[in-house]
Amino acid sequence: MCEACRPARREELDRLDDELTELLLRRARLAAGVVADRLRGAGAVRDGAREAQVLARAARRARSPGERRLVEDLYGRLLAGVRAVGRAEADASPAPPAACPGAPRVVAVGAARFGGGALELIAGPCAVEDEAQLEQAAAAAREAGAKVLRGGAWKPRTSPRAFQGHGAPALAMLRRAADRHGLALVTEVVEPALAGPVAEVADMLQVGARSMHVPALLRAVGRAGRPVLLKRGMAATVEELVQAVDYVRDGGAEDVVLCLRGIRTFCDASRFTLDLAAGPVLRARTGLPVVVDPSHAAGRRALVAPLALAAAAAGADGLMIEVHPDPGRALSDGPQALRPDDLLALAARVRAVEAAARGPAEVTGHSGWGAG
Ligand code: PEP
Ligand code: MN
Repeated sequence: MCEACRPARREELDRLDDELTELLLRRARLAAGVVADRLRGAGAVRDGAREAQVLARAARRARSPGERRLVEDLYGRLLAGVRAVGRAEADASPAPPAACPGAPRVVAVGAARFGGGALELIAGPCAVEDEAQLEQAAAAAREAGAKVLRGGAWKPRTSPRAFQGHGAPALAMLRRAADRHGLALVTEVVEPALAGPVAEVADMLQVGARSMHVPALLRAVGRAGRPVLLKRGMAATVEELVQAVDYVRDGGAEDVVLCLRGIRTFCDASRFTLDLAAGPVLRARTGLPVVVDPSHAAGRRALVAPLALAAAAAGADGLMIEVHPDPGRALSDGPQALRPDDLLALAARVRAVEAAARGPAEVTGHSGWGAG
């Protein structure tokens, strides 16, 4: 090579190096973004098939085995380097947590304000049996200071032989009883097709513990245009309940109230174990009000009051309690149902505990779960 050619070749190399660097960085930034998105979305970081195609295309341009090795080596390093940049990008700005809290939410249902600072009471029978039973239970709920009547029209029973509820006629009875006593109404939706029809009648839609893991149902109640009472599954982790909230929110509902009703443990003193620690955790994690159902956790009448009082002391946003005028004749959950007088007496004690425990929460208007 002549002396005069050397500087021209160096210039050409410098120019190619600059172009190559520019191209490499453009490619790396684009691909690192893809890697970071995959990491945030918990998808697979590597797409082995695509990497093989890229390498094969690059290798086809090579004119000799040496050039091929060079291209393969460079591409291998490039892809590995890009994964490292993507990981760093994902670490620097992780995805927002699911069910991100925002401000603590107040959920209005009739006159009740869940998460509004005061403990709200929901009461009623496990299942609607007949007009007289429902009327006495609704009257007791009202007298105890409940603002929301509960009651099952369709019952998700563990055994298909057990009473399954009277269905649509019971829903109409619930509405009439709630209206007679100036109460709002919450009742359970047991299948997606019922979300719309129940939403036309009830003020709040309940998803039961047995249904918390059913995406189609969660989306359907989320789409129905009513606040949702979402019960924790008896074997669900807190994180799984948070993810169930995401399904409901995906349907469009923002007004969700969570309900602790006990989980299954090796403790055999009660039907389920009431995990009160989940209350403040869920309130902080989701911003949603968290109420407690001591009836299903207890399984026995004598244990309902201690659990209700403990929940009130812990700062629960509400209580949901089963009441029956004649528990011995109840078609479902009789052993855990309070008699009307028991409910009245318990409600007075709950108010005393609430007043003693909350204090400043009344002033700030925030849920008592976080006050401690
Ligand atoms: C209910 O509240 O009527 C009920 C069936 O409870 P859970 O879903 O918590 O068992
Ligand atoms: Mn019940």
